[in-house]
Amino acid sequence: MKQITTISCKLKVSPEMAKEIDATMESFANACQYIHDNSDKKLTNRVAMQSLMYDAVREKFQLSAQTTIHAIRRVCANRKTSKTNKIKNESSLTFTPTSVDYDSRTFSLDTKIWIVSLKLLTKRTRFELLIGNYQRGILKGSKPKSAVLNKRKNSTYYINIHVDNIAPEPENTYKVIGIDLGRTDIASTSEGESWSGKNVTSKRNHYSQMRAVLQKKASKGTRSSRRRCRQLQQRLSGKERRFQKHINHEITTYLVKKAATNKFSIAIEDLTNIRQRTNKQRRSKKERRLSNNWAFYQFRMFLAYKCVLNGVKLILVNPAYTSLTCHKCLHIHPTKGKSYRHGKDYHCQHCGWKGDADYNGAKNIAALGLNVNQPGGSWLSCKVSNLDFIPRQLTIWDVLEGY
Ligand SMILES: [Zn+2]
Repeated sequence: MKQITTISCKLKVSPEMAKEIDATMESFANACQYIHDNSDKKLTNRVAMQSLMYDAVREKFQLSAQTTIHAIRRVCANRKTSKTNKIKNESSLTFTPTSVDYDSRTFSLDTKIWIVSLKLLTKRTRFELLIGNYQRGILKGSKPKSAVLNKRKNSTYYINIHVDNIAPEPENTYKVIGIDLGRTDIASTSEGESWSGKNVTSKRNHYSQMRAVLQKKASKGTRSSRRRCRQLQQRLSGKERRFQKHINHEITTYLVKKAATNKFSIAIEDLTNIRQRTNKQRRSKKERRLSNNWAFYQFRMFLAYKCVLNGVKLILVNPAYTSLTCHKCLHIHPTKGKSYRHGKDYHCQHCGWKGDADYNGAKNIAALGLNVNQPGGSWLSCKVSNLDFIPRQLTIWDVLEGY
């Protein structure tokens, strides 16, 4: 399976070079904006766009031929994304000067001395890469064909290099680990393992209290103290996010490693397009929480990505009834609106099974996953995993950051 990973590399940039990069980004963004503002908003075909806009853009902005083409592609791609994401006001698309696209004609990488050369506005410039062994290991011997130059909020510059690598083909197995995501427990598996969310919840509550206090303070006091409070607030939200990210990394790494060594597949609930799918029927409280919560979303992204990299098959199963059904006898409470589940406990009135509700859910997910994996039979409605829901922005660097 071919998998494109993005390796984020910090660049060593002198103040003069920074000016040159900023000017290039400015031109690129202006060119994109010009293309967008001066063409039919419905046009997303880049060949058509190129024949319409190329000459004008080249004349107006001092971009190289190749970069001009990238600006055209960028506009087409952004329009397509806003279309799929159903953003109504297409004309409001704005381009900020924070990135430029590169290909093998406008950038090159020398892995002997760890230098990239980039075509900037006036000339080609070489930059030293400030990277560690992890990045070197992946870049060594690779022949990257594309990259994106990025400016981060703290005015540091990164080149995100796209590397094709061959991930092992996932093996078909008859063993499946089901994973149920929840709040009291972040994750429970059909193997009986679980990770308590208590730690995370209490930390989050602590942060949200602090944020409330700061919010109050930020509305009063002198100008400088208000600014200080705002800075603190921003730092806090970052801390909270990093903490959750760390937890998500730990659990998903553990699970995927375990699955890879023991030749298991992993099954989780399919929450893609849950908004559209369950429009007619009311979504359960759990479905609402899981599909709206970025932490769970991140967990699923990490899991998906690591599965691909480690050749573990990820199966997405239909989430309907996974928490209501008894995994022993497959019965559901006969009365509409009632359930054998009460918070953390599950007590089946049909066969008498008693136990942890999340474990029960994970068992059902594993059973559904196993069913998908077996050729022929699919008596339970489900859908084999497709990894389309992984957003392109998520990079290997996100996955491995902090390790
Ligand atoms: Zn039962």
